Amino acid sequence: MDANRRSQYLDALGIDVWIPRRRPRELIAPLEVSAAAAVSAADPPPVSPVASTDWDRLRAEVATCTRCALHSTRTQGVFGVGNQQADWLVIGEAPGAEEDRRGEPFVGRAGQLLDAMLKAIGLSRETNVYIANVLKSRPPGNRDPKPEEVAACLPFLMRQIALMQPRLILAVGRIAAQNLLATDVPLGRLRGQVHRFGELNTPLIVTYHPAYLLRTPGDKRKAWEDLKFARGVFRQST
Ligand code: URA
Repeated sequence: MDANRRSQYLDALGIDVWIPRRRPRELIAPLEVSAAAAVSAADPPPVSPVASTDWDRLRAEVATCTRCALHSTRTQGVFGVGNQQADWLVIGEAPGAEEDRRGEPFVGRAGQLLDAMLKAIGLSRETNVYIANVLKSRPPGNRDPKPEEVAACLPFLMRQIALMQPRLILAVGRIAAQNLLATDVPLGRLRGQVHRFGELNTPLIVTYHPAYLLRTPGDKRKAWEDLKFARGVFRQST
């Protein structure tokens, strides 16, 4: 991306100075290939993309899901959006009012900020990122998801991750980060580290939720540091 466009995006984020900074290599743990992921030469991994019928079936299951009480108050299930073969997977919390109405994640004000954040590192939901939520149904009044709702819905996200096999997961906000990492550690302490997710040890980076950043614009600069960190981890893993 040229410097002009980057500065436009940073402007949209409310960040006025951009100073590239190198993160020492030794602070980033090398990617490990788990034994389960190792494939012998005699048994090569499939080269064709994941069958779209798997995605279609999963999408249909979400559309008709009644696994928790939220199905009775939602307008529709919000499955996910973007390139199902993308390297980057962004995971948020749950649909809000606008997402519930339109059936697509992150389409309200927070979504516009998320798009600007992603553009700043060369990503977009139209091309090279997939976006999903921990919950597929809107909690009424935008309250936090209840543990039983997360437990009921998480298998859908796990299946999306298994189908997609992203190279990097960006968890936006406390709810996504804590549920994916199965921890109560506050978000501030989860930032700035390479966490590992699942059997494939997928790198997982934590940053602020865009809705929080709209309320607390002073922290946008820290979110920008997180995005640059994530981009560096991704580049190192290629
Ligand atoms: N907040 C989220 O976490 N997800 C959305 O889809 C919209 C707002």
